[in-house]
Amino acid sequence: MSNWVVAKFGGSSVKDAEAMLRSVKVIESNSDIKIVVISATQNTTNQLEFIAQAASKGDEKNLSLLINELVTRHTKIAEDLYSSEEVRKDLNYLYEELRLISDEIISIKLCTPKIMDQLYSIGERISSLLMSDLVRLRVPEKNVVLLDARNIIKTNSEYQKAEPQIDIIEEKANELLMPGLSNNTLFVTQGFIGKDLLGNTTTLGREGSDYSAALFGEAIDASLVQIWTDVAGIASSDPRKIPEAQFIKTLSYDEATALASLGAKVLFPTTLLPTKRKNIPVFVGSSLNPEKGGTLITNSQDENFKLKAVTLIEKKEFSLISFIGCHLNLAPNLVHELKKEFKEIDVEFIDMTSVSLSYKVKAEDVAKSLIRAHQILLLQH
Ligand code: ADP
Ligand code: ASP
Ligand code: MG
Repeated sequence: MSNWVVAKFGGSSVKDAEAMLRSVKVIESNSDIKIVVISATQNTTNQLEFIAQAASKGDEKNLSLLINELVTRHTKIAEDLYSSEEVRKDLNYLYEELRLISDEIISIKLCTPKIMDQLYSIGERISSLLMSDLVRLRVPEKNVVLLDARNIIKTNSEYQKAEPQIDIIEEKANELLMPGLSNNTLFVTQGFIGKDLLGNTTTLGREGSDYSAALFGEAIDASLVQIWTDVAGIASSDPRKIPEAQFIKTLSYDEATALASLGAKVLFPTTLLPTKRKNIPVFVGSSLNPEKGGTLITNSQDENFKLKAVTLIEKKEFSLISFIGCHLNLAPNLVHELKKEFKEIDVEFIDMTSVSLSYKVKAEDVAKSLIRAHQILLLQH
């Protein structure tokens, strides 16, 4: 295995010039980073959806406000970063492409999933363009190449939730990345986007940039995939909802997959599939405070039963609260014990695997159930 590292930066890690500069410091500090995967800047992907809606309705006034806001925000980042003339010219081409796609939606009064994927791609292409220029300036010893992820991440044609074609991705990586990786090249590329075999732009599903990073890691046999976000790792619950949540030092691939699939937004659910296939560790940390460390996800399992995290999937009528941990099957009375612990809350047992245990709760009980579940978890520590 190589020493090569793939580092992914989420929307909050590139939300403005300051955040981009912080993220570049992380890149500068590790010469093993060979591929940098960039998400769209914070909120841009949502805004592209609003643009699609306004265009579909023919609401040209709102459309032009939304496009202007997006353009102004990114133009300011380019100014703050003193981006090169060439980059500003390329930004203008991307803004032009955005307007052309919007015109197409207006003309057919509809945004198909296929057109939406073209529109989505603009967000990641803008942010990676800005970041590649900055990395080039800050890491002059490397040959920084802005890579179009769509040349590597080949998928089927299921727009908005495309399936990666692993063998073709590996072939493309061998052809297009390996020569550069063996010398001094540092690739900066986009998350989330790919291309189908007919050459149309596709996307992997909302929040899918984590998955892109893992796919790049698998394709180049990386030694580590880093997911840089706005929290110092994976915590025992969402720190936004449970301030007492504690960060977890290590998790297995299966625990992290259960956690992501059962509601923890911090990772896209399929991220651990490619990395598990190649046994590549995944680190999750904060680009705001890299010195705080983070969570390392590997194939190693704890030996004994342990509850580690509580997750929540909110739905209209019922929500799902899940305990994530290991060897849950080694505690046969767990389902009943936990139900007793919930006391005044009406929970219904739903499902149990060796790494997860889920209860259904009524919508009105969600907040107190989550707090109670997390208290129960801490009591078990
Ligand atoms: P990015 O834009 O970097 O991809 P996300 O917003 O997708 O970031 O993921 C980070 C967010 O995930 C955190 O701000 C946090 O609110 C949320 N989150 C949910 N569950 C957890 C958890 N168990 N541990 C850490 N963060 C969590
Ligand atoms: N920008 C995309 C989204 O917001 C992908 C990602 O950030 O992971 O869904
Ligand atoms: Mg994310």
